[in-house]
Amino acid sequence: MKLYYEASRFLDDPKSGSLQNRVFGAARDGKIQSDPKHVYALVLSTLKYRPFLAQIIRKSRLLELEKKSKLTQPLALLLVHDLLLSKGGRIHSKHHPLKDAVIRNKTRLHAELTKLKLKHGVRTLEDLVEDDDTPVRWFRANLVRTTTNAVLAALAHLRRVDCVADIQKGTIYHDKYVPDLFGVHPREALVSLPIYQSGDVIIQDRASCFPAFILAPRPDKDKIIDACAAPGNKTTHLAAILGNSPESIIAFEKNPERAKTLHKMCEKAGALGCVRIQQGDFTQTEPSKYSDVTALLVDPSCSGSGIFGRGFEENDTQEHTQERLKKLAGFQVAIMKHAMRFPNAKKIVYSTCSVHAQENEQVVVDLLLDSTVRAQGWRMCSRKDVIPAWPRRGLVEEFSALDDPQRCADGCIRTVPQEDGGIGFFAVAFERD
Ligand code: SAM
Repeated sequence: MKLYYEASRFLDDPKSGSLQNRVFGAARDGKIQSDPKHVYALVLSTLKYRPFLAQIIRKSRLLELEKKSKLTQPLALLLVHDLLLSKGGRIHSKHHPLKDAVIRNKTRLHAELTKLKLKHGVRTLEDLVEDDDTPVRWFRANLVRTTTNAVLAALAHLRRVDCVADIQKGTIYHDKYVPDLFGVHPREALVSLPIYQSGDVIIQDRASCFPAFILAPRPDKDKIIDACAAPGNKTTHLAAILGNSPESIIAFEKNPERAKTLHKMCEKAGALGCVRIQQGDFTQTEPSKYSDVTALLVDPSCSGSGIFGRGFEENDTQEHTQERLKKLAGFQVAIMKHAMRFPNAKKIVYSTCSVHAQENEQVVVDLLLDSTVRAQGWRMCSRKDVIPAWPRRGLVEEFSALDDPQRCADGCIRTVPQEDGGIGFFAVAFERD
């Protein structure tokens, strides 16, 4: 059972360090005794199937039925993983009360797995995970290093298509909303190409490219703060739009490990001259010290419910989800209010990769009803300045407390995961004279 106890320590995302480094580091430091290769493979695979395993555990009522055995959710995920998904369905342990608890429910667990496969019309769970992945691999020409034409020339072996729905292996689509953005089939070998390795192209979901494009900073005129910057997708996109002009972006990142990742990404993108990385809490800055800042991009931590696999919180109670969303929304409103205090800022883009109204439209409503925000002169940008051709806008019913709900909803952008060709996303912009 030692393998499972040790593996269970790595199931939760500590927001720093790759899983591989954490597992092998722990083995080097003598913190785990099991074979790190085995621990790593088990945790990696369990994380991949986690939403489905959690659903099977919940529906089979395993934890309730085996309450006496003190089986916990993390251990159940790992044990059920091995029972249902490993070769031979073997749990690697001698007799142990926890192993016995899972084995006692073997038939029930297998039945739930079969029901899940039937429901999704797949033969194996592997097919389900593949289905859950991005429908399009989006990447942008990194204008800091190259040009759109040079990228197209390097990918001349791919046939051009004019519509996202026509993307298949061997084709390339040039996006009609974000210039310099392309889409290929997810199985297209992109990461092995020299243009990827050199940083000439950057893989970034289409919706995630909206915020920098909406902010539209002007080279040699604007000075930008990226308030929540790591890993740096939007920061490097801003640098590309700014023509890499020196010292134009201050990129804040609170988490030291993630700040290192941000540095690496800016370095690979060739944007270190344009970006000054500031490791620290953006909300602790003194706005009056940044009188040269003209615009901000605020892409704060969120539930990530628009990202494939993360919205599937089958083992979370409704109450827990609501509590978590309330906490996140509180932080999102607070960080936006701080951004709105920068004395010479004229434009702010707010975005999340969440599909929940609490983190999106409701944050906008809270801000627009706030007397300080109004006194500061902030208003929502209208649709004409927020990718007007993008068809999916904000949820109108969420704006009923405001004067013109339709105008407010039109000022927002939403994307639905998969259906809109990538992750679920939300973006909105604020401006003042
Ligand atoms: N904009 C990034 C991109 O496109 O690559 C993704 C940002 S991610 C959604 C949010 C980031 O904000 C996390 O790396 C988190 O550590 C950081 N963060 C959260 N609170 C912060 C704060 N108060 N100050 C600075 N960074 C913060």
